[in-house]
Amino acid sequence: MNPRRFLLTVLIAILPCASALAWREPHIAITKAALAVLPDWQKALLGDELAPLGENYCLIPDHVYTDRANAKFALIESRPREVYVLDLHLPAQQPENLETLRYFMGKAVAALRAKRVPDAARFMGTICHQIEDYGSPAHTLPGDNMFTLLQQFLPPSEAMKDQLLHGPIENGDLPVKIDGYRPRLLGTIVEEASWRLLHRIHEGILNARSTTVPIIQALYASDAKAVETAQMKAATVDAQITADALHTMLCLGAERYEPEAERALAQAPISALWPLEAESLYYPQKQFFSSPNWGFPHTGVILAEGKKAQPLKLRVTGRDGASVEREFPNGISAGMGKSLTFLLPRGVYHGFTVLAGLHPGLGANGKVEFTITGDGQPLASAVVSGAEPAHAFECDVRQIAELQLTLTSRGDPRSQYAIWAEPTLWK
Ligand SMILES: [Zn+2]
Repeated sequence: MNPRRFLLTVLIAILPCASALAWREPHIAITKAALAVLPDWQKALLGDELAPLGENYCLIPDHVYTDRANAKFALIESRPREVYVLDLHLPAQQPENLETLRYFMGKAVAALRAKRVPDAARFMGTICHQIEDYGSPAHTLPGDNMFTLLQQFLPPSEAMKDQLLHGPIENGDLPVKIDGYRPRLLGTIVEEASWRLLHRIHEGILNARSTTVPIIQALYASDAKAVETAQMKAATVDAQITADALHTMLCLGAERYEPEAERALAQAPISALWPLEAESLYYPQKQFFSSPNWGFPHTGVILAEGKKAQPLKLRVTGRDGASVEREFPNGISAGMGKSLTFLLPRGVYHGFTVLAGLHPGLGANGKVEFTITGDGQPLASAVVSGAEPAHAFECDVRQIAELQLTLTSRGDPRSQYAIWAEPTLWK
C-alpha cells in the first residue's frame, strides 16, 4: 500500500467521524447551497434523492468504514477491493485528480441515463465531497495536512500551541448561500466536463489557499468572526463549483443542454490553465532559471527585467499587409528551455491555435524557436525574431492527450521576451 493510501486508511479507521479529513458540517451546508441554485427540472429529476444528497451522500467518502451500504460509491472498481480513494479528500497531481473526477462523473451520468437515480445521486455525492475537500482551507497546503510545517513559519499562540490546526481551520457552522448564481455547463461529454471541472477546482484551491493564513491568524487572535469570514470566502466558491458539477452531471444524464451554454463550449482558451509543471499549482524551484531570471511563466502579462508587468504585445500582420502592434489580454509569457504541458481531454477538441512571437518593445533584439508537441511528437515549430511579426500556429490535436509548448533561445538571451498569445483549443 502506498503511503498516501496508508494514511487515509489509518485516519479513517481511527476517526470514525473523520474529523481530520473533512469540512464535516460545511460539506452539508455547501452541497445544500449548490443544490438550491439548480434549475427546477434538475431538482425534479433528483426527486426524493435531493435531500439525502445534501444531508448524507456528500459525506460518503468520509464514512466508508461506518456507512458500509454506501461505501461502494467511493470505490474505483479496477482498484483492489476496499482501497478507498485518498484523492477524494486531498488533491493529488492533475492526471490522478482528472482520472478520479472522470471516473465518478462517468458513473453518475451512466446511472442517470439508466434511470438509476438513487445510485447517480450517491456518485454525485462522492464528487461533491472531492470538490468541497479540495476547496477547503485545511486541504490545500501540499504535504502539510496538519499544518505542523506551517506552524514553524507561523508560531502558534499559547492557547493553540498543542492543537492540530486542521479541524479548527475548516470546521464551523457556515451559513453558505449562493442565491442568484447560475451554474455553468462544463461539457456535453464526460471527458470534456471532467477536464473543465478540474480547472474550475483549481480556481477553488487557489481561492481556499488565500484564506488559510488569515484563518490561522484569526484563530490565534481568538477572533471567531474573522475565522468565519475567511471560511465563508472558501465555502462560497466551493458551492459555486459544486453547483457547476451537479448541474453538468444532470444535463449529461438527461442529455439536455441550453444552446447558449453549449455554444460557449466551442472553444477553450488555455492561457489561464495550470500546466503540469506547476505540480501543486505553483512553480517549483526547478522551473526558475538564472538566465534570464525573468523567465518563469506568467499569464496575461510579461515582466520587464523580471519585475515590471507589461501588457502582452505582439507585432502582427494587419489587413493591408503592413506590420502593426497589437495588445493581447489572453496569453502566456515564459522563459527559455522549460516546457509548459497541458492535459487535453481526448476526442473533444479538433484544433489548437496560438500566435507566437516576441514583445516588440522588450524583445526587439531577440530570436526564439517556438515548438508545439503533442504526446511527445513535434506538431509544429517556427523561429521568430523580435523584428518579425508573430507566427500563427494551427495544429490538429484530435488524438493528443498532452500538448506541450516549448521556447528555445536562438539569439541574445537578454532579449528573449517570448509570448504565446491567445492559445486556444477549438472543437
Ligand atoms: Zn474528506
